[in-house]
Amino acid sequence: MSSGSERPLVLILGGGFGGVGAAQKLKDADADVVLVDRHDYHTFQPLLYQFATGLLETSGVGHSLRDLLERHDNTTIHKAAVNAIDLDAHQVSFEGMPPITYDYLVFGLGAAVNFFGTEGAAEHAFPMYTLPHAVRLKNHILERWEASDRDPSLIADGALNIVVVGGGPTGVETAGAVAELYRGDFSRDYRNVTQDDARVTLVEAGPELFPMFKPKLREYAAKALEDRTVEVKTGVAVSSVSPTRVTLKSGEELKAHTLVWGAGLQGNDLVNSLGIELQRGNRIGVGPELTLPDRPEVYVVGDVAALTDAKTEQVLPQLGSVALQSGEHVGETIARRIEGKDVKPFEYRDKGTMAAIGRGAAVVQFLRGRTITGLKAQLAWGTVHLALLPTNEDRAKAVVSWAGAAFTHQRADRITVEGE
Ligand SMILES: Cc1cc2nc3c(=O)[nH]c(=O)nc-3n(C[C@H](O)[C@H](O)[C@H](O)COP(=O)(O)OP(=O)(O)OC[C@H]3O[C@@H](n4cnc5c(N)ncnc54)[C@H](O)[C@@H]3O)c2cc1C
Repeated sequence: MSSGSERPLVLILGGGFGGVGAAQKLKDADADVVLVDRHDYHTFQPLLYQFATGLLETSGVGHSLRDLLERHDNTTIHKAAVNAIDLDAHQVSFEGMPPITYDYLVFGLGAAVNFFGTEGAAEHAFPMYTLPHAVRLKNHILERWEASDRDPSLIADGALNIVVVGGGPTGVETAGAVAELYRGDFSRDYRNVTQDDARVTLVEAGPELFPMFKPKLREYAAKALEDRTVEVKTGVAVSSVSPTRVTLKSGEELKAHTLVWGAGLQGNDLVNSLGIELQRGNRIGVGPELTLPDRPEVYVVGDVAALTDAKTEQVLPQLGSVALQSGEHVGETIARRIEGKDVKPFEYRDKGTMAAIGRGAAVVQFLRGRTITGLKAQLAWGTVHLALLPTNEDRAKAVVSWAGAAFTHQRADRITVEGE
């Protein structure tokens, strides 16, 4: 497939922060832009745990890509899975759609879960990286509580216990939100359940939670989790998972019908077929222009890229703001190249690394070392995440849900919608 026009064709793979950022900046470019994603929506990953614990509805975390880019007259969107990329032929093939030949390629297919070969994890764990993952987790939690309500003998078998794996932001945020859901709404919804029989355990293989944060933020997070009755186990890895048991490498067996996996990411599987050398975590190393070595027409953005910050020379973390800024930079760069103008190297504007552990409890650390905690940090978290949301409508929805939950302490979206 080609556009049939004389204009260059820019093919964007992935409608995440990186892909959408690039598309936004190509709106007025003299090019045909094609964005392909296997979903017809953009996923707001940072809020998936809020969806899974009933704070937000589906449209609060998934936004129609066609809606997002509807005013882009030069842009076409296709819902299709990428099958293979032929860098020499400048061609990408898809499932159920003819191949597309590109002049410029923006590779923004993100990251995928890494179970590190843990036995039973692929079959029984609940990862938290996509909207279908979060739907599955939410339905499972609600189903286990309803099942235990009908048959309380399940409780002693660990039906309500949740083990969250991973002491980084995804694991800590999820454990905090689940504990607030349990001790808040569920303590009123299921009055016959003793809360001590519904345990939330966070397991981290390393010696401490939040290895990316300074020690005082780690201590703050551990205390905030303890206040929310999350039991934290550090220095121990999960060795196997079954539908009702989690076994640790120490030999300890935890009764739990739910294991949430927030422990690891790796570059999208397709990177393995590119025939290029990969960096840690299967990420693609790019230079300051965000292009592949010797392939100036191929740009890599977001989580799948190993981007080095020009000022600190550190590899930038896999964050929404990094993905969005790298995508926007690439969109601008391609538009400038098409106009025959000079291009600039990528420079990251640090918004801080942050995590929200629960109501009024959050941590923020900036690249240069400054830190904040508590309500102030939660407000900073809210501001940065609102800025990342794609439209004003999304921002308004998030503010209403967050404010509602803050005042009423209620997670209103705790229902299961299923077939009859
Ligand atoms: C649970 C969780 C919490 C997070 N919390 C925060 C946070 O608080 N703050 C923060 O800044 N960052 C956070 N992040 C990180 C942030 O969400 C990511 O850095 C960001 O989403 C990366 O954007 P991306 O565009 O590179 O990839 P993605 O957002 O993953 O987008 C990739 C896109 O590619 C599509 N795709 C993948 N494979 C294919 C294929 N074969 N064919 C077609 N399409 C495909 C996917 O459907 C997806 O739409 C969090 C991430 C997770 C998972």
